[in-house]
Amino acid sequence: MAEYLLEVEHLALNFYRHKGFAGQESLSPVVDLSLKLMAGEILAVVGSSGSGKSLLASAVLGILPGNCREQGLIKYRGQVLTKILRQSLRGSDIRLIPQSVSYLNPLYTIGWQLKQAALAAGVTPALVRTEITEAITRYELPESTLKLFPHQLSGGMARRVLTATATMGSPRLLIADEPTTGLDEDLITESLKFLKTLADDGCGILIITHDLSAVTDFADYVTVFIDGLSVETCQTETVVQQGWTTLKHPYSRALWRSLPVMDFWDGLPENSGRHSHGCPFASRCEGCQDLCLAHHPNISNTNEREYVRCHF
Ligand code: SF4
Repeated sequence: MAEYLLEVEHLALNFYRHKGFAGQESLSPVVDLSLKLMAGEILAVVGSSGSGKSLLASAVLGILPGNCREQGLIKYRGQVLTKILRQSLRGSDIRLIPQSVSYLNPLYTIGWQLKQAALAAGVTPALVRTEITEAITRYELPESTLKLFPHQLSGGMARRVLTATATMGSPRLLIADEPTTGLDEDLITESLKFLKTLADDGCGILIITHDLSAVTDFADYVTVFIDGLSVETCQTETVVQQGWTTLKHPYSRALWRSLPVMDFWDGLPENSGRHSHGCPFASRCEGCQDLCLAHHPNISNTNEREYVRCHF
């Protein structure tokens, strides 16, 4: 049986907060999320803003806030990711290219931050300088960047620095949270090509994005995420070669058909946890029937990797 680098099985995240004097309320931005990633693959998790996909990154890295309760299972190389294991793998085996440039420490120069990232990644002190030079060259950052502080960078430069920081050394699992945001088209292609090179060298890459058009040429698999639920995982090559009709879920089909114009996103259901009963796509689905309004559809597998979550 294949050993997966990362397996997420029925992940659910519930956030609790106080309400009134003694009350408590909960929010469930991730209801049921499942995916699998092999070493050397790129898997894109695609969903609209607020669908909970960035929380997946925080869950794998073990950086969710204390008021979050996690259910389901996350495994790394066949081993259940405990809190302690996540802590020890974070920054070494498992890295994050964060969505927000605020992850850069405002008090330190870029050179210092790249050096710390290289050391944390296991690069020996003697090779740190070479590693930093390679990283800034790869991302077309001038040498002078090393002396700058984060507030002195443009948005695009800051994103390139984040990517350079996360890819120091040889990460085994890289989670890229909206890695193309703020980059021009050429740099998007360059960045994704570099992620592809890392994957070709054996790194497993999870790209979290709302921009399906950017990743179809690079991702091996796509998992579609809507309103806290993963509704389909498909092999990208099949869809690219045989067309969107090979997709099984109405939402995935609509998503693919909307390429390259992404206006479709505007009309998606909001992530409110209100779908405690029924399919989250019911209000926009032409095939919706009574069963869809009453019950969550369960996952049915097409094969070991691909699945769909739809009653019909
Ligand atoms: S479960 Fe029903 S509403 Fe949901 S996508 Fe399938 S047919 Fe449409």
